Amino acid sequence: MSPLSRIEQFNQLFPEIQAFRRKQFVEVVFQPTFRSWKDVSVFSKEMREKLDASIPWMSVKESVVKQSAKMDTVKALLEVEGGSMIETVLMQNARGWWTICVSSQVGCAMRCTFCATGKMGLTRNLTADEIVDQYRYWVDYLQMHPELPNRITNVVFMGMGEPMSNYENVRETLRTLLGNTDLGQTRITVSTVGVLPRLETLMNDPLWPHVRLAISLHSADAKTRKEIVPTSYDDFIPKLVDWSQRYLEKFGNRRHHLTFEYVMLKGINDTAHHAKMLASMIHKIGNIRVNLIPYNFTGGEFSTSTSKTVHDFFQYLESSGITVTRRRTMGEDIDAACGQLYASTNQ
Ligand code: SF4
Repeated sequence: MSPLSRIEQFNQLFPEIQAFRRKQFVEVVFQPTFRSWKDVSVFSKEMREKLDASIPWMSVKESVVKQSAKMDTVKALLEVEGGSMIETVLMQNARGWWTICVSSQVGCAMRCTFCATGKMGLTRNLTADEIVDQYRYWVDYLQMHPELPNRITNVVFMGMGEPMSNYENVRETLRTLLGNTDLGQTRITVSTVGVLPRLETLMNDPLWPHVRLAISLHSADAKTRKEIVPTSYDDFIPKLVDWSQRYLEKFGNRRHHLTFEYVMLKGINDTAHHAKMLASMIHKIGNIRVNLIPYNFTGGEFSTSTSKTVHDFFQYLESSGITVTRRRTMGEDIDAACGQLYASTNQ
């Protein structure tokens, strides 16, 4: 893998180049009508040829693409430098446009027991170019499929990997996307299992763009959470409460709430006791939204909560004054639903 980013390779290739050309270099890769360096007419022929011979236009390469029967979800298996595979998903959102789900690592070290990616272990972090290029890949895909709506309005970091364990590259990706696309801060969500040292860092990091954050909580009961998220620990819940209080005090407003993600696992975290624990935890914090996620089968010992249980859990939280939503399941037939991403070429 080249240790240099795309822009560093450019600087090495053209050490004497004017600053405006560097800016152009960063911008042109986001032009949907350009599909290779040869198309970049703002550069001289000589420059285009040099770029074409030296710097790949994309750092990800399409391997397998699957569309759901409903045509509302597309999953792509992409090859990155070194031959590793990652997955990224295009999902139609409520407004009829697209949300993309990007991966931040090849595999993941967190081993969440309901998650297919967790079974892979961690191979490596993705570079910022490799994360940005998942967005560019989908822009290109939509250009090639004029029958589909052609706008990506949201990006969620909910694919393979734990974004906070790849902090610098995720931060660089956020800055690049916000600076070069029409995505605003409230249209991007970074989802984390709750790596508290990194969450502390971002709170005081002037370079961290304050996009939306979602914490994969899955249980407010420490023992149950540890069964679902093995990297959790005894005092995680009080520490998360403390961090969330300080975060919301600093950034909280209508644009910056926090979301707790909660995958509904039958008989594990969906009882009245768990609903009560969750409500009590949230009441200590304030502006938290809860997103209940149906469990998508990944071959393990879990099964999804019944509709009645989900309904009762939802009602309990709502009647306790908590904003709660239920995520639609999409792409289950192509293993693109939440927790099902597992990069393999045998698909
Ligand atoms: S749920 Fe997220 S953090 Fe947990 S193993 Fe899967 S990818 Fe990693």
